[in-house]
Amino acid sequence: MTQAGSSSPTRSDDARLPHLVIVGNGMAAHRLIETLAAQSGAPRHITVIGAEPHAAYNRILLSSWLAGDVEQDGLTLTPPHDSDVTVDQRLGARVERIDRTRRLVECDDGEVIPYDHLVLALGSRSAMPQIPGITLTGVSGFRDLDDAAHLAEAAKAGGAAVVVGGGLLGLEAAAGLAARGMQVCVLQRSPRLMNRQLDATASTMLASEIEGRGIHLKTGARLAEIVGDENGQVVGVRLEDDERLLPANCVVIAAGITPNAELGRDAGLDCDRAIVVDDTLATSDPDISALGECCQFEDTTYGLVEPIWHQVEVLASRLCGEPSAPYHERACATKLKVSGVSLYAFGPTEAEDGHEVLSYRDQGEYRRLLLRDGRLEGAVLYGDTRMGPWLFQLAEQGQRLDRVRHSLLLGQADTEALLADDATTDTDPSTTEQDAA
Ligand SMILES: Cc1cc2nc3c(=O)[nH]c(=O)nc-3n(C[C@H](O)[C@H](O)[C@H](O)COP(=O)(O)OP(=O)(O)OC[C@H]3O[C@@H](n4cnc5c(N)ncnc54)[C@H](O)[C@@H]3O)c2cc1C
Repeated sequence: MTQAGSSSPTRSDDARLPHLVIVGNGMAAHRLIETLAAQSGAPRHITVIGAEPHAAYNRILLSSWLAGDVEQDGLTLTPPHDSDVTVDQRLGARVERIDRTRRLVECDDGEVIPYDHLVLALGSRSAMPQIPGITLTGVSGFRDLDDAAHLAEAAKAGGAAVVVGGGLLGLEAAAGLAARGMQVCVLQRSPRLMNRQLDATASTMLASEIEGRGIHLKTGARLAEIVGDENGQVVGVRLEDDERLLPANCVVIAAGITPNAELGRDAGLDCDRAIVVDDTLATSDPDISALGECCQFEDTTYGLVEPIWHQVEVLASRLCGEPSAPYHERACATKLKVSGVSLYAFGPTEAEDGHEVLSYRDQGEYRRLLLRDGRLEGAVLYGDTRMGPWLFQLAEQGQRLDRVRHSLLLGQADTEALLADDATTDTDPSTTEQDAA
Protein backbone atom coordinates (compact mmCIF):
# COMPACT_ATOMS: atom_id res chain seq x y z
CA MET A 1 0.00 0.00 0.00
CA THR A 2 1.33 3.42 -0.89
CA GLN A 3 0.96 5.73 2.02
CA ALA A 4 2.13 9.28 2.58
CA GLY A 5 4.34 9.61 5.61
CA SER A 6 4.91 12.91 7.41
CA SER A 7 8.53 12.24 8.28
CA SER A 8 9.78 10.30 5.25
CA PRO A 9 12.76 11.77 3.38
CA THR A 10 12.48 13.18 -0.18
CA ARG A 11 11.28 10.42 -2.47
CA SER A 12 13.24 8.89 -5.24
CA ASP A 13 11.34 8.59 -8.52
CA ASP A 14 10.36 5.00 -7.70
CA ALA A 15 8.94 5.97 -4.35
CA ARG A 16 6.69 8.70 -5.75
CA LEU A 17 3.01 8.27 -5.01
CA PRO A 18 1.63 6.69 -8.23
CA HIS A 19 -1.88 8.13 -8.30
CA LEU A 20 -3.30 10.98 -6.26
CA VAL A 21 -7.01 11.68 -6.66
CA ILE A 22 -8.37 15.06 -5.56
CA VAL A 23 -12.11 15.48 -5.17
CA GLY A 24 -13.15 19.11 -5.68
CA ASN A 25 -11.59 21.45 -8.24
CA GLY A 26 -11.81 24.70 -6.29
CA MET A 27 -9.20 27.04 -4.91
CA ALA A 28 -7.60 24.61 -2.45
CA ALA A 29 -7.30 21.86 -5.09
CA HIS A 30 -5.81 24.20 -7.66
CA ARG A 31 -3.24 25.57 -5.24
CA LEU A 32 -2.35 22.04 -4.14
CA ILE A 33 -1.76 20.90 -7.73
CA GLU A 34 0.30 24.01 -8.44
CA THR A 35 2.42 23.44 -5.33
CA LEU A 36 2.90 19.73 -5.99
CA ALA A 37 3.88 20.35 -9.59
CA ALA A 38 6.70 22.61 -8.42
CA GLN A 39 8.20 20.02 -6.06
CA SER A 40 10.36 17.00 -6.62
CA GLY A 41 8.83 13.83 -5.25
CA ALA A 42 5.33 14.87 -6.33
CA PRO A 43 2.80 12.16 -7.19
CA ARG A 44 3.36 10.89 -10.72
CA HIS A 45 -0.26 11.17 -11.76
CA ILE A 46 -3.00 13.40 -10.36
CA THR A 47 -6.69 13.15 -11.20
CA VAL A 48 -8.85 16.06 -10.09
CA ILE A 49 -12.62 15.64 -10.12
CA GLY A 50 -14.79 18.76 -9.96
CA ALA A 51 -18.58 18.95 -9.78
CA GLU A 52 -18.60 22.36 -11.45
CA PRO A 53 -18.39 22.22 -15.25
CA HIS A 54 -15.76 25.00 -15.38
CA ALA A 55 -11.99 24.86 -15.16
CA ALA A 56 -10.72 25.98 -11.75
CA TYR A 57 -11.33 29.69 -11.17
CA ASN A 58 -10.64 32.34 -8.60
CA ARG A 59 -13.77 32.25 -6.45
CA ILE A 60 -12.67 35.36 -4.55
CA LEU A 61 -13.10 37.41 -7.71
CA LEU A 62 -16.75 36.44 -8.18
CA SER A 63 -17.72 39.61 -6.27
CA SER A 64 -15.61 41.76 -8.58
CA TRP A 65 -17.04 39.94 -11.61
CA LEU A 66 -20.61 40.55 -10.39
CA ALA A 67 -19.77 44.23 -9.91
CA GLY A 68 -18.45 44.35 -13.49
CA ASP A 69 -14.89 45.11 -12.35
CA VAL A 70 -13.30 42.03 -13.99
CA GLU A 71 -14.08 39.91 -17.05
CA GLN A 72 -14.92 36.21 -16.67
CA ASP A 73 -11.64 35.26 -18.40
CA GLY A 74 -9.80 37.02 -15.59
CA LEU A 75 -11.18 34.48 -13.11
CA THR A 76 -9.66 31.38 -14.71
CA LEU A 77 -6.79 29.72 -12.84
CA THR A 78 -4.28 28.29 -15.26
CA PRO A 79 -2.97 24.75 -14.71
CA PRO A 80 0.77 24.38 -14.01
CA HIS A 81 3.14 24.07 -16.99
CA ASP A 82 6.62 22.56 -17.17
CA SER A 83 6.01 19.75 -14.75
CA ASP A 84 6.50 16.01 -15.07
CA VAL A 85 3.27 15.44 -13.15
CA THR A 86 0.37 14.28 -15.33
CA VAL A 87 -2.85 16.02 -14.33
CA ASP A 88 -6.20 14.68 -15.57
CA GLN A 89 -9.29 16.76 -15.01
CA ARG A 90 -12.82 15.38 -14.78
CA LEU A 91 -15.05 18.44 -14.94
CA GLY A 92 -18.79 18.36 -14.24
CA ALA A 93 -18.45 15.05 -12.39
CA ARG A 94 -19.58 14.68 -8.79
CA VAL A 95 -18.08 11.99 -6.57
CA GLU A 96 -20.94 10.22 -4.84
CA ARG A 97 -19.18 7.54 -2.86
CA ILE A 98 -15.78 6.58 -1.51
CA ASP A 99 -14.99 2.89 -1.19
CA ARG A 100 -12.21 2.97 1.39
CA THR A 101 -11.63 -0.78 1.36
CA ARG A 102 -10.97 -0.95 -2.38
CA ARG A 103 -9.57 2.60 -2.46
CA LEU A 104 -11.71 4.00 -5.23
CA VAL A 105 -14.24 6.77 -5.78
CA GLU A 106 -17.50 6.50 -7.70
CA CYS A 107 -18.73 9.44 -9.78
CA ASP A 108 -22.31 10.34 -10.65
CA ASP A 109 -21.57 9.59 -14.35
CA GLY A 110 -20.77 5.98 -13.42
CA GLU A 111 -16.99 6.32 -13.65
CA VAL A 112 -15.00 4.52 -10.97
CA ILE A 113 -11.52 5.90 -10.23
CA PRO A 114 -8.97 4.08 -8.06
CA TYR A 115 -6.58 6.04 -5.84
CA ASP A 116 -3.36 5.47 -3.95
CA HIS A 117 -4.05 8.57 -1.91
CA LEU A 118 -7.24 10.65 -1.85
CA VAL A 119 -7.55 14.36 -1.02
CA LEU A 120 -10.97 15.82 -0.24
CA ALA A 121 -11.14 19.51 -1.20
CA LEU A 122 -14.91 19.80 -1.28
CA GLY A 123 -15.32 23.39 -0.06
CA SER A 124 -18.61 24.51 1.42
CA ARG A 125 -21.98 25.82 0.30
CA SER A 126 -24.19 28.74 1.29
CA ALA A 127 -26.03 27.94 4.52
CA MET A 128 -29.73 28.16 3.62
CA PRO A 129 -32.11 28.97 6.50
CA GLN A 130 -35.01 26.54 6.89
CA ILE A 131 -37.78 29.05 6.29
CA PRO A 132 -40.88 28.98 4.06
CA GLY A 133 -40.11 29.94 0.47
CA ILE A 134 -36.38 29.09 0.52
CA THR A 135 -36.73 26.87 -2.59
CA LEU A 136 -38.55 29.48 -4.72
CA THR A 137 -37.12 30.44 -8.11
CA GLY A 138 -35.03 33.58 -7.72
CA VAL A 139 -33.63 32.60 -4.31
CA SER A 140 -29.95 31.66 -4.38
CA GLY A 141 -26.72 31.61 -2.49
CA PHE A 142 -23.60 33.41 -3.69
CA ARG A 143 -21.01 30.69 -3.93
CA ASP A 144 -20.07 29.79 -7.45
CA LEU A 145 -19.94 30.96 -11.03
CA ASP A 146 -23.44 29.64 -11.71
CA ASP A 147 -24.86 31.63 -8.75
CA ALA A 148 -23.08 34.75 -9.98
CA ALA A 149 -24.32 34.19 -13.54
CA HIS A 150 -27.92 33.78 -12.30
CA LEU A 151 -27.65 36.99 -10.31
CA ALA A 152 -26.26 38.86 -13.31
CA GLU A 153 -29.13 37.49 -15.41
CA ALA A 154 -31.72 38.51 -12.79
CA ALA A 155 -30.22 41.99 -12.68
CA LYS A 156 -30.88 42.43 -16.41
CA ALA A 157 -34.60 42.64 -15.63
CA GLY A 158 -33.90 45.33 -13.02
CA GLY A 159 -36.26 45.53 -10.05
CA ALA A 160 -35.51 44.85 -6.41
CA ALA A 161 -33.10 42.47 -4.69
CA VAL A 162 -32.92 41.49 -1.05
CA VAL A 163 -29.59 40.29 0.28
CA VAL A 164 -29.79 38.31 3.51
CA GLY A 165 -26.58 38.87 5.47
CA GLY A 166 -24.59 42.03 6.15
CA GLY A 167 -21.19 40.34 6.34
CA LEU A 168 -18.39 40.40 3.80
CA LEU A 169 -20.13 38.26 1.20
CA GLY A 170 -23.56 39.89 1.58
CA LEU A 171 -22.16 43.38 1.15
CA GLU A 172 -20.11 42.35 -1.88
CA ALA A 173 -23.20 40.74 -3.46
CA ALA A 174 -25.25 43.86 -2.67
CA ALA A 175 -22.65 46.17 -4.21
CA GLY A 176 -22.49 43.96 -7.31
CA LEU A 177 -26.26 43.92 -7.81
CA ALA A 178 -26.51 47.68 -7.18
CA ALA A 179 -23.76 48.23 -9.76
CA ARG A 180 -25.94 46.26 -12.19
CA GLY A 181 -28.83 48.63 -11.57
CA MET A 182 -30.95 46.81 -8.98
CA GLN A 183 -32.63 48.41 -5.98
CA VAL A 184 -30.93 46.51 -3.16
CA CYS A 185 -31.88 46.02 0.46
CA VAL A 186 -29.50 44.23 2.85
CA LEU A 187 -30.99 42.47 5.87
CA GLN A 188 -28.63 42.03 8.77
CA ARG A 189 -29.69 40.10 11.88
CA SER A 190 -27.13 41.77 14.15
CA PRO A 191 -27.41 45.46 15.07
CA ARG A 192 -24.46 46.30 12.85
CA LEU A 193 -22.72 45.37 9.60
CA MET A 194 -19.73 43.00 9.58
CA ASN A 195 -20.16 42.55 13.31
CA ARG A 196 -17.54 39.77 13.39
CA GLN A 197 -14.79 41.99 12.00
CA LEU A 198 -15.61 45.62 12.77
CA ASP A 199 -16.16 47.65 15.90
CA ALA A 200 -19.20 49.91 16.20
CA THR A 201 -17.47 53.04 14.81
CA ALA A 202 -16.10 51.38 11.66
CA SER A 203 -19.39 49.59 11.15
CA THR A 204 -21.32 52.87 11.33
CA MET A 205 -18.94 54.49 8.85
CA LEU A 206 -19.34 51.53 6.51
CA ALA A 207 -23.14 51.67 6.82
CA SER A 208 -23.26 55.33 5.86
CA GLU A 209 -20.97 54.71 2.86
CA ILE A 210 -23.12 51.77 1.69
CA GLU A 211 -26.35 53.74 2.18
CA GLY A 212 -24.78 56.67 0.34
CA ARG A 213 -24.61 54.38 -2.69
CA GLY A 214 -28.36 53.88 -2.59
CA ILE A 215 -28.28 50.45 -0.90
CA HIS A 216 -30.91 50.19 1.80
CA LEU A 217 -29.86 48.57 5.10
CA LYS A 218 -32.05 46.96 7.74
CA THR A 219 -30.16 45.89 10.84
CA GLY A 220 -31.66 43.79 13.62
CA ALA A 221 -33.81 42.23 10.85
CA ARG A 222 -34.99 38.62 11.16
CA LEU A 223 -36.25 36.93 8.04
CA ALA A 224 -39.60 35.18 8.64
CA GLU A 225 -40.51 33.94 5.14
CA ILE A 226 -39.84 34.34 1.45
CA VAL A 227 -42.99 34.87 -0.57
CA GLY A 228 -43.61 33.64 -4.12
CA ASP A 229 -46.27 33.98 -6.82
CA GLU A 230 -48.37 31.20 -8.34
CA ASN A 231 -45.46 30.26 -10.65
CA GLY A 232 -43.09 29.71 -7.77
CA GLN A 233 -41.13 32.90 -8.52
CA VAL A 234 -40.05 34.97 -5.53
CA VAL A 235 -41.90 38.29 -5.12
CA GLY A 236 -40.63 39.45 -1.75
CA VAL A 237 -39.77 38.66 1.85
CA ARG A 238 -41.42 39.21 5.21
CA LEU A 239 -39.58 39.96 8.41
CA GLU A 240 -40.49 38.84 11.89
CA ASP A 241 -42.51 41.60 13.62
CA ASP A 242 -43.53 43.16 10.30
CA GLU A 243 -46.54 42.13 8.23
CA ARG A 244 -45.52 44.21 5.20
CA LEU A 245 -44.03 42.60 2.12
CA LEU A 246 -40.55 43.79 1.21
CA PRO A 247 -40.66 43.38 -2.58
CA ALA A 248 -37.88 41.44 -4.33
CA ASN A 249 -37.59 39.55 -7.59
CA CYS A 250 -34.23 38.21 -6.47
CA VAL A 251 -33.14 37.07 -2.98
CA VAL A 252 -29.52 36.29 -2.17
CA ILE A 253 -28.72 34.28 0.94
CA ALA A 254 -25.27 35.20 2.27
CA ALA A 255 -25.68 34.28 5.89
CA GLY A 256 -22.87 31.81 6.49
CA ILE A 257 -21.50 28.64 4.95
CA THR A 258 -21.90 24.91 5.58
CA PRO A 259 -18.83 22.71 4.99
CA ASN A 260 -19.38 19.95 2.39
CA ALA A 261 -18.56 17.10 4.74
CA GLU A 262 -21.20 14.55 3.70
CA LEU A 263 -18.97 12.55 1.36
CA GLY A 264 -16.46 12.03 4.16
CA ARG A 265 -19.15 11.39 6.76
CA ASP A 266 -20.84 8.76 4.58
CA ALA A 267 -17.47 7.05 4.10
CA GLY A 268 -17.12 6.77 7.88
CA LEU A 269 -14.39 9.39 8.32
CA ASP A 270 -14.35 11.23 11.65
CA CYS A 271 -16.47 14.33 11.18
CA ASP A 272 -17.72 17.03 13.49
CA ARG A 273 -18.90 20.29 11.85
CA ALA A 274 -16.59 19.32 8.96
CA ILE A 275 -14.14 16.52 8.12
CA VAL A 276 -11.74 16.29 11.03
CA VAL A 277 -8.02 16.49 10.16
CA ASP A 278 -4.85 16.38 12.23
CA ASP A 279 -1.90 18.76 11.98
CA THR A 280 -0.68 16.99 8.82
CA LEU A 281 -4.14 17.34 7.20
CA ALA A 282 -4.71 13.56 7.47
CA THR A 283 -8.26 12.40 8.17
CA SER A 284 -9.02 9.40 10.38
CA ASP A 285 -8.08 7.24 7.33
CA PRO A 286 -4.33 7.52 6.59
CA ASP A 287 -5.01 7.11 2.86
CA ILE A 288 -7.30 10.16 2.82
CA SER A 289 -6.47 13.80 3.52
CA ALA A 290 -8.75 16.84 3.52
CA LEU A 291 -8.16 20.57 3.28
CA GLY A 292 -9.93 23.85 2.69
CA GLU A 293 -13.43 24.72 3.74
CA CYS A 294 -14.56 21.08 4.04
CA CYS A 295 -12.11 20.34 6.85
CA GLN A 296 -11.96 21.07 10.54
CA PHE A 297 -8.74 21.35 12.53
CA GLU A 298 -9.27 21.27 16.29
CA ASP A 299 -12.32 23.53 16.69
CA THR A 300 -11.78 25.65 13.59
CA THR A 301 -13.49 25.51 10.20
CA TYR A 302 -12.50 27.83 7.35
CA GLY A 303 -13.94 30.61 5.20
CA LEU A 304 -10.89 32.52 3.96
CA VAL A 305 -8.02 31.39 1.76
CA GLU A 306 -5.08 32.50 3.90
CA PRO A 307 -5.12 29.51 6.30
CA ILE A 308 -5.92 27.21 3.36
CA TRP A 309 -2.67 28.24 1.62
CA HIS A 310 -0.85 27.23 4.77
CA GLN A 311 -2.68 23.86 4.74
CA VAL A 312 -1.61 23.35 1.12
CA GLU A 313 2.07 23.80 2.04
CA VAL A 314 1.84 21.25 4.84
CA LEU A 315 -0.09 18.69 2.80
CA ALA A 316 2.02 19.09 -0.35
CA SER A 317 5.20 18.45 1.65
CA ARG A 318 3.73 15.32 3.16
CA LEU A 319 2.56 13.99 -0.21
CA CYS A 320 6.07 14.55 -1.59
CA GLY A 321 7.68 12.85 1.38
CA GLU A 322 9.28 16.13 2.50
CA PRO A 323 9.46 17.06 6.17
CA SER A 324 7.14 19.90 7.14
CA ALA A 325 6.27 21.85 10.25
CA PRO A 326 2.82 20.82 11.50
CA TYR A 327 -0.21 22.89 10.60
CA HIS A 328 -1.29 25.37 13.27
CA GLU A 329 -3.82 28.16 13.45
CA ARG A 330 -2.75 31.70 12.63
CA ALA A 331 -4.65 34.97 12.79
CA CYS A 332 -6.31 36.16 9.59
CA ALA A 333 -7.03 39.63 8.28
CA THR A 334 -10.24 40.67 6.51
CA LYS A 335 -10.61 43.01 3.54
CA LEU A 336 -13.80 44.06 1.80
CA LYS A 337 -13.83 44.01 -2.00
CA VAL A 338 -16.27 46.81 -2.70
CA SER A 339 -14.65 49.37 -4.94
CA GLY A 340 -14.19 52.68 -3.22
CA VAL A 341 -14.50 51.20 0.29
CA SER A 342 -11.28 50.27 2.05
CA LEU A 343 -11.29 48.42 5.30
CA TYR A 344 -8.86 46.05 6.91
CA ALA A 345 -9.35 44.27 10.22
CA PHE A 346 -7.88 41.51 12.33
CA GLY A 347 -8.09 40.31 15.91
CA PRO A 348 -10.84 40.96 18.43
CA THR A 349 -13.54 43.45 17.41
CA GLU A 350 -14.26 44.67 20.95
CA ALA A 351 -11.83 45.85 23.59
CA GLU A 352 -11.68 43.37 26.44
CA ASP A 353 -10.34 43.67 30.00
CA GLY A 354 -6.62 44.33 29.79
CA HIS A 355 -6.72 45.90 26.32
CA GLU A 356 -5.24 49.33 25.74
CA VAL A 357 -7.18 51.10 22.97
CA LEU A 358 -5.44 53.51 20.58
CA SER A 359 -7.65 55.28 18.09
CA TYR A 360 -7.66 58.02 15.49
CA ARG A 361 -10.60 59.44 13.57
CA ASP A 362 -10.80 62.19 11.00
CA GLN A 363 -13.69 62.48 8.55
CA GLY A 364 -13.55 59.29 6.42
CA GLU A 365 -10.51 57.91 8.24
CA TYR A 366 -10.61 55.64 11.26
CA ARG A 367 -7.97 53.50 12.93
CA ARG A 368 -8.34 51.58 16.15
CA LEU A 369 -5.69 49.33 17.65
CA LEU A 370 -5.94 46.95 20.59
CA LEU A 371 -2.79 46.29 22.59
CA ARG A 372 -2.32 43.91 25.48
CA ASP A 373 0.83 44.04 27.59
CA GLY A 374 2.38 46.27 24.94
CA ARG A 375 1.71 43.82 22.10
CA LEU A 376 -0.66 44.42 19.20
CA GLU A 377 -3.65 42.04 19.19
CA GLY A 378 -6.14 43.64 16.85
CA ALA A 379 -6.73 46.46 14.41
CA VAL A 380 -9.61 48.01 12.52
CA LEU A 381 -8.67 50.39 9.71
CA TYR A 382 -11.26 52.24 7.66
CA GLY A 383 -10.41 54.62 4.84
CA ASP A 384 -6.64 54.49 4.41
CA THR A 385 -5.73 50.84 4.99
CA ARG A 386 -2.20 50.89 3.60
CA MET A 387 -0.63 50.19 6.97
CA GLY A 388 -2.85 47.11 7.52
CA PRO A 389 -0.42 44.39 6.39
CA TRP A 390 2.41 46.00 8.36
CA LEU A 391 0.30 46.13 11.54
CA PHE A 392 -0.73 42.51 10.96
CA GLN A 393 2.94 41.56 10.73
CA LEU A 394 3.72 43.44 13.96
CA ALA A 395 0.92 41.51 15.67
CA GLU A 396 2.21 38.19 14.32
CA GLN A 397 5.73 38.96 15.49
CA GLY A 398 4.38 39.62 18.99
CA GLN A 399 6.92 42.40 19.40
CA ARG A 400 6.58 44.71 22.46
CA LEU A 401 5.52 48.10 21.18
CA ASP A 402 5.23 50.15 24.41
CA ARG A 403 7.91 52.66 23.38
CA VAL A 404 6.39 53.33 19.96
CA ARG A 405 2.72 53.18 20.86
CA HIS A 406 2.20 56.88 20.05
CA SER A 407 3.46 56.54 16.52
CA LEU A 408 1.69 53.27 15.69
CA LEU A 409 -1.37 55.09 14.40
CA LEU A 410 0.78 57.28 12.16
CA GLY A 411 2.28 54.47 10.15
CA GLN A 412 5.26 52.37 9.37
CA ALA A 413 7.90 55.02 8.59
CA ASP A 414 7.52 56.95 11.87
CA THR A 415 7.29 53.80 13.97
CA GLU A 416 10.21 51.99 12.40
CA ALA A 417 12.45 55.01 12.87
CA LEU A 418 11.62 54.89 16.58
CA LEU A 419 12.06 51.11 16.76
CA ALA A 420 15.48 51.50 15.14
CA ASP A 421 16.39 54.21 17.71
CA ASP A 422 15.27 51.85 20.47
CA ALA A 423 17.44 49.07 19.14
CA THR A 424 20.50 51.38 19.16
CA THR A 425 19.77 52.80 22.61
CA ASP A 426 19.03 49.40 24.13
CA THR A 427 22.26 47.80 22.93
CA ASP A 428 24.17 46.64 25.96
CA PRO A 429 27.83 46.01 24.99
CA SER A 430 28.35 43.27 27.57
CA THR A 431 25.34 41.34 26.26
CA THR A 432 26.57 41.74 22.70
CA GLU A 433 29.97 40.35 23.60
CA GLN A 434 28.42 37.39 25.37
CA ASP A 435 26.13 36.66 22.45
CA ALA A 436 29.04 36.84 20.06
CA ALA A 437 30.99 34.35 22.18
C1 LIG B 1 -18.10 35.47 -3.65
C2 LIG B 1 -16.98 35.02 -2.76
C3 LIG B 1 -16.01 35.94 -2.39
C4 LIG B 1 -14.96 35.54 -1.55
N1 LIG B 1 -14.02 36.45 -1.19
C5 LIG B 1 -12.98 36.07 -0.42
C6 LIG B 1 -11.95 37.00 -0.06
O1 LIG B 1 -11.99 38.17 -0.41
N2 LIG B 1 -10.90 36.54 0.69
C7 LIG B 1 -10.82 35.23 1.08
O2 LIG B 1 -9.84 34.86 1.74
N3 LIG B 1 -11.79 34.33 0.77
C8 LIG B 1 -12.87 34.72 0.04
N4 LIG B 1 -13.84 33.82 -0.29
C9 LIG B 1 -13.73 32.44 0.23
C10 LIG B 1 -12.81 31.59 -0.66
O3 LIG B 1 -13.26 31.63 -1.98
C11 LIG B 1 -12.82 30.16 -0.12
O4 LIG B 1 -12.25 30.16 1.17
C12 LIG B 1 -12.07 29.17 -1.01
O5 LIG B 1 -12.61 29.13 -2.31
C13 LIG B 1 -12.14 27.77 -0.39
O6 LIG B 1 -11.49 26.85 -1.22
P1 LIG B 1 -11.96 25.31 -1.25
O7 LIG B 1 -11.17 24.68 -2.32
O8 LIG B 1 -11.95 24.78 0.12
O9 LIG B 1 -13.48 25.37 -1.70
P2 LIG B 1 -14.08 25.80 -3.12
O10 LIG B 1 -13.23 26.84 -3.76
O11 LIG B 1 -15.51 26.13 -2.86
O12 LIG B 1 -13.98 24.49 -4.01
C14 LIG B 1 -14.67 23.31 -3.69
C15 LIG B 1 -15.05 22.64 -4.99
O13 LIG B 1 -15.40 21.28 -4.71
C16 LIG B 1 -16.49 20.93 -5.53
N5 LIG B 1 -17.16 19.74 -4.96
C17 LIG B 1 -17.85 19.66 -3.81
N6 LIG B 1 -18.29 18.40 -3.61
C18 LIG B 1 -17.86 17.66 -4.66
C19 LIG B 1 -18.00 16.29 -5.04
N7 LIG B 1 -18.67 15.42 -4.27
N8 LIG B 1 -17.45 15.87 -6.20
C20 LIG B 1 -16.75 16.75 -7.00
N9 LIG B 1 -16.59 18.06 -6.68
C21 LIG B 1 -17.13 18.52 -5.52
C22 LIG B 1 -17.34 22.18 -5.52
O14 LIG B 1 -18.25 22.18 -6.60
C23 LIG B 1 -16.27 23.27 -5.65
O15 LIG B 1 -16.00 23.55 -7.00
C24 LIG B 1 -14.91 34.19 -1.10
C25 LIG B 1 -15.90 33.27 -1.46
C26 LIG B 1 -16.93 33.68 -2.28
C27 LIG B 1 -17.99 32.68 -2.67
